[in-house]
Amino acid sequence: MAAPYILSESPWKTVHEMQYEIAILPWGATEAHNYHLPFGTDSIETDFIARRAAQKAWDMGIKVVVLPVIPFGVNTGQLDIYMTMNMNPGTQFKILEDVLTSLSNHNISKLIIFNGHGGNDFKTLIRELQPRFPEIFMVQLNWFDVVPLEQYFEETGDHANEMETSVIMHITPDLVLPLSEAGMGKARKPRFTARKEGWVWFPRAWTKVTEDTGIGNPKKATAEKGARYIEVITDKIAEFFKELATTPQEDIYE
Ligand SMILES: [Zn+2]
Repeated sequence: MAAPYILSESPWKTVHEMQYEIAILPWGATEAHNYHLPFGTDSIETDFIARRAAQKAWDMGIKVVVLPVIPFGVNTGQLDIYMTMNMNPGTQFKILEDVLTSLSNHNISKLIIFNGHGGNDFKTLIRELQPRFPEIFMVQLNWFDVVPLEQYFEETGDHANEMETSVIMHITPDLVLPLSEAGMGKARKPRFTARKEGWVWFPRAWTKVTEDTGIGNPKKATAEKGARYIEVITDKIAEFFKELATTPQEDIYE
């Protein structure tokens, strides 16, 4: 029996009777993840975490609907890595515009862009699209920012790191190669102090930063750490779904 909050798995009669309050658009990427994780890591994680959070919100009586995951992200810093599938921000804009047009036709008034890839940034897209779709309140949510990683993992980093490895070990253990085959995820930092302090930014040229495509040591990852982390963040995300669903647009500011 398909869950009524997963659009791609629900039949017409189920969907037709719903009045969904919030649409969730999971957005991933297709890119190399060190030597041990699959190219689809970001999409697999993001889809799973969106579903789990939606399930928790649904159990609280919130009518959320998870749209199909978009599997391509912005990877312009990794074009020289074989089979990286880049989707430019301009293309993402067009996709988002079409999704918003569809949602507007069906009177959905809230959209959460549920992001699982660091190279995706929907802020500028939302700034441009929000005034054109005032009837739909748009939110970007980065699930990897929900809690500080150091509370749940020994090693940090932000790509194919201990967190991502633990999460995939929990969700799809068959797709993880033995950790003995993983690279160390050693990353070179940009030289400038201003970049380290965070007030200057430029994207990282991936192959100049890391040899195994990973950023962050994955060796201490376990499925148990992944399961615990997912439960913690999906509790918080489901609470936000509830808060958003029950807040009218005119009450968004206290
Ligand atoms: Zn990733």
